[in-house]
Amino acid sequence: MSGEISDILITEDDLKARVAELAAEINSDYAGRPVVLVGILKGAFIFLSDLCRQLTVPVSFDFMAVSSYGSGTKSCGVVRILKDLDTDITGKEVIIVEDIIDSGLTLNYLHKSLRARHPASLEICSLIRKPETDKVHLDAKYVGFAIPNEFVVGYGLDYAQQFRNLPYIARLRVVRDNNGKNGAASRTAAARR
Ligand code: IMP
Ligand code: MG
Repeated sequence: MSGEISDILITEDDLKARVAELAAEINSDYAGRPVVLVGILKGAFIFLSDLCRQLTVPVSFDFMAVSSYGSGTKSCGVVRILKDLDTDITGKEVIIVEDIIDSGLTLNYLHKSLRARHPASLEICSLIRKPETDKVHLDAKYVGFAIPNEFVVGYGLDYAQQFRNLPYIARLRVVRDNNGKNGAASRTAAARR
């Protein structure tokens, strides 16, 4: 089974414009205060790099890599930290930068984990949000786009580690193999990272 691009959901121009708006909001909210951007690998790397280059506040970076336990198609909320922060965020103003919020369980866990380290403030900035998120209490202050509950790739987001380099966000069409197995719907949460 493999995936191919179906159609473009968010164009390169729309991404540029919205990322600029998010950066402007952050610049105004944090004016003059140093911010630590925590990028969630791998999916956030392109969004983070475009966003940070439009920030005028003093910025430093750290990264986390996470993976969900379980074999279902949805993340189960128990998250394994594959790579933790290198730095101490105690007393710092922290913004978690993520590619997409689906069930919200991953970010919910991450938010709790980082909260426990006593940053001065902790916000979430996600490029995309799907409607499922409404099921968990997750207060994401900065959200680029709300999209329907569909699997998308590009601009950092992958299907089986492919398509991250696309400059736009596209819907994915799953091509069935000879066994008739369906691809995207049976991906595990871990495989989607
Ligand atoms: P959740 O919010 O815990 O369900 O998981 C969010 C994570 O699942 C994201 O960080 C992505 O890695 C992955 N994910 C969710 N939806 C998509 C999608 O449409 N395309 C690519 N990855 C996705
Ligand atoms: Mg991710």
